[in-house]
Amino acid sequence: MSRIRAEYMDPAGVRHGGLPTAHWGGADPTVYATRRQLAKDRLQPNRQPIAAQILWWGITGYGGYGTRVAYLYRRDLAAPKRPATPAQLAALEKANRARRTCSTCEQVKPYVIPRSLGECIDCHDAPWIEQEAA
Ligand SMILES: [Zn+2]
Repeated sequence: MSRIRAEYMDPAGVRHGGLPTAHWGGADPTVYATRRQLAKDRLQPNRQPIAAQILWWGITGYGGYGTRVAYLYRRDLAAPKRPATPAQLAALEKANRARRTCSTCEQVKPYVIPRSLGECIDCHDAPWIEQEAA
């Protein structure tokens, strides 16, 4: 079944509570963008309300088919994304470092410690290291 349905085209939002509604591919990309599309251009909605929506027939999160919706914001009201503050960057760095730190040998590895192993590859392959250190 096509993801596009005539009932989804409603530019004035007559059938959708006044919210301009378009079918898949039916919204002007120079005017509207999803949150993700804005982020790609280093923009954020800047607290503007949802300006329009896109409806399409697609796969839902429940393994079936249904009407999907994406909310659109106006590009002209979007604002540049604020860069992360030093504190935010530090928190990110700390979190990433923790994910790369082996709980057995406490070394910081250049890779994320596999959750399935719970320790770094070296410790996993060489279980005697811990005993030697103890
Ligand atoms: Zn280790």
